[in-house]
Amino acid sequence: MRLSLQTNIVWGKRVHQTDKTGKDPAPFQDVTLLHGMSLLRDPLLNRGTGFTEAERERFGLRGLLPPCVLTMREQAERVLINLRNLPGDLEKYVALNALHDRNEALFFRVVCDNIDEIQPIIYTPTVGLACQKYGLIFQRPRGMFISANERGRIAEVLRNWPYQAKLIVVTDGERILGLGDLGANGMGIPVGKLSLYSACAGVHPEQCLPIVLDVGTNNEELLGDPFYLGLRQKRLTGAAYDEFVDEFMTAARATFPGVLIQFEDFANHSAFRLLHKYRDEAPVFNDDIQGTAAVALAGLFSALRVSGGKLRDQRLLFLGAGEAATGIADLVVSAMMAEGVSEQEALQRNWLVDSRGLVVRGREGLSGHKLRYAHDHAAISDFATAIRTLKPTAIIGVAAVGGAFTPEVLRTMAELNKRPIVFALSNPTSKSECSAEDAYRYTEGRALFACGSPYDPVKLNGKTFVPRQGNNSYIFPGVGLGAIASKSRLVTDEMFMSAAHALADCVNPDDLDQGSLYPALPRIREVSAKIATAVANVAYQNDLAAGPPPNDLSGFVEAQMYNPHY
Ligand code: NAD
Repeated sequence: MRLSLQTNIVWGKRVHQTDKTGKDPAPFQDVTLLHGMSLLRDPLLNRGTGFTEAERERFGLRGLLPPCVLTMREQAERVLINLRNLPGDLEKYVALNALHDRNEALFFRVVCDNIDEIQPIIYTPTVGLACQKYGLIFQRPRGMFISANERGRIAEVLRNWPYQAKLIVVTDGERILGLGDLGANGMGIPVGKLSLYSACAGVHPEQCLPIVLDVGTNNEELLGDPFYLGLRQKRLTGAAYDEFVDEFMTAARATFPGVLIQFEDFANHSAFRLLHKYRDEAPVFNDDIQGTAAVALAGLFSALRVSGGKLRDQRLLFLGAGEAATGIADLVVSAMMAEGVSEQEALQRNWLVDSRGLVVRGREGLSGHKLRYAHDHAAISDFATAIRTLKPTAIIGVAAVGGAFTPEVLRTMAELNKRPIVFALSNPTSKSECSAEDAYRYTEGRALFACGSPYDPVKLNGKTFVPRQGNNSYIFPGVGLGAIASKSRLVTDEMFMSAAHALADCVNPDDLDQGSLYPALPRIREVSAKIATAVANVAYQNDLAAGPPPNDLSGFVEAQMYNPHY
C-alpha cells in the first residue's frame, strides 16, 4: 500500500501522517518522524548547520554536525561567496543543484533573495546548456522519469512518488527551448520551472513534481552519447505516442486528484494537439503557448502606456509561427476584441513570418495553428521586405533565429514608427533576434524593447536604458498559484488575459522612464501574488473554483505562499 505523506510544513518542519481518509492532515506541530542522519539527508527538512541546539538535542543530531550553529542568513552568505567564486554558469548551476538536493529551504532562500542573479542560472539561459550536458553533470535524480518501457503501468510508477503533488510540469523533451530534441535531458526544464514556481510564487516545493515523458529521442548525437541517460531508441510516434500520453494523463489525475498539469517544451505537432485535447476537461496549460502569450501581451500594454496608442490599432508582425507566435497572436486577438474590434479585424492586424516567408492564404502545407493568420496577400520571402510592405508597429521575434533583427530591420522599424515596439524574445541568448544594445542603437533610442534573454543596461546618448526580460517566469508562477489556490477545474484564456493585465499594472512610471516594460524581478513574489489573485478571481467568477470565494481573496492567496524564513 502506498504511504501518502500528508504534510504540513512551516519552513523545513513537517508532520508525516498516513492519510487513510483523504482529509487534510492535523494542524502543524513541531515534530517530524525523521531523526538523525535520515533528517540530514532529507532535503525538504534538512537545515544543516542551521539546526539549533534544541533541535540537535531533540532530533538526535548531536555529533552529526559541526558544533557551530549558523543562522540561515550566514549559511546563505556562505553559499553566495562560494557561488561567485565559481568560474562559469554551468558550474554555478551544478552547485545550486547540489544545494537544492541537500537543503531546499536554504536553496530557495538564496534564490528568492538573489533572483536577478540566480534565475539566469537555474533557468534560461543556463538551463539550456545544463540540458545539453545533462548526462555529464547528473548527480542525483530529481522528479520522475516515465519511460516508454512503463507503458501499461504508469499509475503504479507514479505511486512511487512520496508526496501529494498539486502541480506537475511535464515535457517529452522534443523541443527544449530553441535547442530541439534533447530527449530525457529535457528534465532540466521541468526542474527549473518548478524551482521558479516555489521561488517566485511560493508554491510549496513538496507540491511540485517535475516529469519527463521519455518516449525516446531522434537526436542522433544523444543516441550515440555514452553518457545519455534516456531510452536509446527513436521517439514513439502516432497512436503509440498518443496512447502513452493519454495513459499518463489519466494516471496522473487519478494519483493526484485535481493536480494542475503544465505542458512544457513539446514540439509543435504535439503541443497544440495535447492542449486542445485536455484543456476543456482538466486543469492544464501550455506555458510555451499561453504563458508566453500573457507575458508578451503585458509587455505590449506597458509599451502602449509609453507610446500612447491602443492595442486594437497596432499591427504586429511576428518572426516565427510556432507555439510562442501563435499563442501570443491568439491572446492579442482576444485582447483587441476586448477593446471592441471584430475578430476578423483583430486577426488582420496580426501577421506571421516563418521559415518559408510570410504566412499567406493558399500557401501549401500550412499547419493548422497558422491558418487563422494566413491572410490574403502576395508571398513575401524575407522579413525585411515584409516589414516595408506591412508597416508593423510592433515586431515580435520568436523564431529562435539569432541576429534576425538586423540593423536594417531595426532602422526600418524606426523609420516607420515614432516608438517602434521591438520584442526579441527567443532563447537562449545565442538565439536572440538582436541584442538590447542594437535595438536601442539602430532606433536612436526610440525602441520599446523587451528581450527573452537577459541583457545588461545600455548607455546611449547620455541615457541609460534598462531592458527587462519578457520571460514567462513573470506569469506562470502566479497563474499556477492562482489555479492551485482556488482549486480551479480548468485554466482558461481569460485567466491569462487577467494575468497580463495584473502584470502590466505592476509596472510603475519609473520602470517605463528607463525603458523597462516589466517590473523589477526582485518584486516577483508581490507580482505573482497579484497575478494569482487575478487568476483565482476568474476561477471564482466563472464557477471553476472549489467552494465559495474567500472574503479576502488576496489575503487567502498570500497565506498559501511558501516562504523560507531566516
Ligand atoms: P517553435 O518551434 O514552436 O516555433 C519556431 C517558429 O520559428 C516556427 O514557426 C518556425 O517555422 C519558425 N522559424 C524557424 N526558422 C525561421 C526563419 N529562419 N525565419 C522565420 N521563422 C523561422 O518554438 P516556440 O515555442 O514558438 O519558441 C520560439 C523561440 O521563442 C524559442 O527560442 C523560445 O526559447 C522562445 N520563447 C521565449 C519565451 C520567453 O519567455 N521569452 C517564451 C516562449 C518561447
